[in-house]
Amino acid sequence: MSDIIHLLPDSVANQIAAGEVIQRPASCLKELVENSLDAGASHIRVIVRDAGRTLLQVVDDGKGMSPTDARMAFERHATSKISQASDLFQLRTMGFRGEALASICAVAHVELQTRRENDEVGTRIEIAGSQVINQEIVQCAAGTNIRVKNLFYNVPARRKFLKTDQTELRNLLTEYNRIVLVNPQVQFTFVSNDEILSDLAPCTLKQRIEAVFGHSSKHYTSHLVDVSTDTELVRISGFIGKPETVGKNSQQYMFVNGRYMRHSYFHKAIMTAYSGLLLPEHTPSYFLYFDIHPDAIDVNIHPTKTEIKFADEQAIFQILLAAVKEALGKFNVAPSLDFTSTTQLDIPAARTGAIPVQAPILQVDPNYDPFKTHTSRSNPVSSWEQLYEPIQSHMPGASTTVASSMLFDTPLISDSTPLLQCANRYILAPVEHGLMLIHQHRMHVAILYKELQEQLSQSQAITQPLLFPEIIELTYDDWQTLQTLLPDLERLGFTLDQFSPQAYTISAVPALLGQKNAVETLLQVIHDVQDTEESVENQWKETMTLCLARQMAIPQGKPLTDVEMRDLVNRFMTANLSRHLPNGQTIISILNNDDIQKRF
Ligand code: ADP
Ligand code: MG
Repeated sequence: MSDIIHLLPDSVANQIAAGEVIQRPASCLKELVENSLDAGASHIRVIVRDAGRTLLQVVDDGKGMSPTDARMAFERHATSKISQASDLFQLRTMGFRGEALASICAVAHVELQTRRENDEVGTRIEIAGSQVINQEIVQCAAGTNIRVKNLFYNVPARRKFLKTDQTELRNLLTEYNRIVLVNPQVQFTFVSNDEILSDLAPCTLKQRIEAVFGHSSKHYTSHLVDVSTDTELVRISGFIGKPETVGKNSQQYMFVNGRYMRHSYFHKAIMTAYSGLLLPEHTPSYFLYFDIHPDAIDVNIHPTKTEIKFADEQAIFQILLAAVKEALGKFNVAPSLDFTSTTQLDIPAARTGAIPVQAPILQVDPNYDPFKTHTSRSNPVSSWEQLYEPIQSHMPGASTTVASSMLFDTPLISDSTPLLQCANRYILAPVEHGLMLIHQHRMHVAILYKELQEQLSQSQAITQPLLFPEIIELTYDDWQTLQTLLPDLERLGFTLDQFSPQAYTISAVPALLGQKNAVETLLQVIHDVQDTEESVENQWKETMTLCLARQMAIPQGKPLTDVEMRDLVNRFMTANLSRHLPNGQTIISILNNDDIQKRF
């Protein structure tokens, strides 16, 4: 038989890689404008037609490219910005991967005109589907002018995935704002279908914020107060909103070394500084700029993601908290300030105006009796009473005894051991010392929990594509939590793509999830993680896997066949698992022969 493995042609490899970098016109805009900034441009014009679908053009007056560089720029991993891995820790440019232009030209018709200031003539290159169609010498202005036409012309699936022009234009402007707000010294123009939507002269930071948001509420920046702190570790400057002006137009922006970022932990620091000053559902405006040595952050995450890892997050949390508190105090907007108080992390979920705030719906169970035991809920907190099972069972007169570890030294259940399901919840099995009582749901949770933990470290999840992708819409807080969880959720088999600023499409789920509702599952995971103690490192990973395992496990009340029961118990025994879940809940309990005898 002949060999079957071959290398993909560059055009195909680039098209696949493009899916990672260029997901919509907005990602294309980001890459092109960042290139212009890296080229030292002082005026950058963005021109779009049909929300970037038919044309996305970026014109800059930056340093331009030589004819050879202009050609090289479209090769994959071709960059002028780094040459060795260690350069990543000295990074002062936005780009470094050398992937953007190669990706864009794989999925669009691209026309580039570029000239360096001291060159007499410039270069014009036309590329489509990674193939150079034409290269010639031209007369053109110094700088770079790049036109991306018919985005995704050769990837119908991506094209179909694009939203209405209105939504895509909004995405473009969101991306544009994230860039203009951190580059006030640069002049920017945004033209859509021949209409100038934004024209920003070089100015100060505060003027730039006013220019971007002032149209929707006059004197926008008069509602802001200055934040400024300079420590050895980090310099933080910018503005925060006065608590009394929190309203619909509240905006949250954080940047590090000129890069827009999301950071839920730092967001929490800011919210903590405001605690007591705002209604729980309100989020203040902030525009905060972090300057830090490049070796203290890791920007080398997925190109489309905006989280950034900091080496010393806890110290920065404290610095930020103090800086925001000080700013609130200096402008006499905080009633009383206590700089020595420890941080309160468990603040209520904050929401922005992007998604209408709804009053919580309280469901009251009139039959609820707090002293009744045995309620089996999936929420670990609500089944608190079960945490005491092991202790109670040791008390005099208690009818059950916790299984001693020696019971596991001998195979407990042979093929001939009869298994009996009770109340569709428990599995009963006679063992040498008495009667083993198994909580079927928890036993399955324990098995799945271990499997998920293994998948997290090995990335070997089996995924199941959804026939109809689902959309998950999130509040700002939930969105931020999801950002933290995303890489791990993807490792566990979820495929999530940003759909709008605060919504994702879910196109695949872990196969183990079966028919469970993907949106509900993810929301549960997000909320469980939010309730996790932050101080314990990586605790949220445990919470996330445990929550997913609960969702995947056979539910309470499900009748099981003998084969299913046997399979469950065998898997548990073979994996040599603990008799308690990580949150302390009991999985197996033994009714001793002595205890049984006492009953008669
Ligand atoms: P990266 O920005 O990660 O280096 P890109 O694919 O975005 O990768 O760009 C490749 C190279 O092309 C850049 O490193 C830069 O040298 C050059 N380049 C791209 N855009 C411009 C521009 N607007 N002006 C000058 N040079 C550019
Ligand atoms: Mg780039």
